[in-house]
Amino acid sequence: MRLLVIVAHPHDLCHMAGTCAHHVERGDRVTAVAITGGQTTHDEELADELRKSPDQRDMTIVGRSQEEYAASKAREFVNVCELFGIADVRILPFSDNPIEVTDEIVRTLAEILYDVRPQMVLTHAPYTLPDRRSHYAWIDDHTAAGITVQRALQHISIPDRDRGHAPHKVASVYYTGVDYAFHEVDVCIDISDQVENRKKAEILFESQGHTPELAEKRIESNAGFQGWKAHIGYAETFIRGYREIGRCLSVTEENLLLAEMSHEERLRRQTGKGPRYR
Ligand SMILES: [Zn+2]
Repeated sequence: MRLLVIVAHPHDLCHMAGTCAHHVERGDRVTAVAITGGQTTHDEELADELRKSPDQRDMTIVGRSQEEYAASKAREFVNVCELFGIADVRILPFSDNPIEVTDEIVRTLAEILYDVRPQMVLTHAPYTLPDRRSHYAWIDDHTAAGITVQRALQHISIPDRDRGHAPHKVASVYYTGVDYAFHEVDVCIDISDQVENRKKAEILFESQGHTPELAEKRIESNAGFQGWKAHIGYAETFIRGYREIGRCLSVTEENLLLAEMSHEERLRRQTGKGPRYR
């Protein structure tokens, strides 16, 4: 199977990386695309320098160009993808903060979709949920990325008379559940075997000021929390973009196994010490 992961900024891939590793492991082809290089996102070093009085600032950081920052982030992105076995990594030359939903981005994504012809797409949700504190009059980069992906998917599904491309329809779309409450997610992928790689990936994003302490806290409190809620060690969560169609209702091997576990086995599993599925 061919999977295409499309994210707003390089670091966003991390939230789905353990899942990607499982697909690579079973022989699926995974392509990772960041719509932007994240050149204006999380430049924490610059933010900290600008907080100082002008005479105390480290000018090597202040004078560093956006391109330099983006180049180091691009290297980090490639290294992180490598950790999870993803070799086909692409960064598009669009700017972030804000990502504008333009025809140019939609066309570029459409070309990648025609090229990869994935059966499955992992990306951001094209909507935001009403939240009384963060329901702004504009959308953030992640939602904008989700919208551009939807538009590109629509674009490639209709015959392209001018360029002669055969239409392509994706079979399934999953949105990362990382920014959504647990009750909003449909699928939990058990990434307990990938948790060390998830922590390493956080540390690799040095340009965002990440440290081993931050990596530990972030993965334990996020993937750890999602896993805890699902009675497993660590989880990456997803929201189904498309309805699942089948002749019968589905239940996974993992759900069957969990149902058969004793209380003690379940606790061991939930604390990351339980048996592997395979
Ligand atoms: Zn992001």
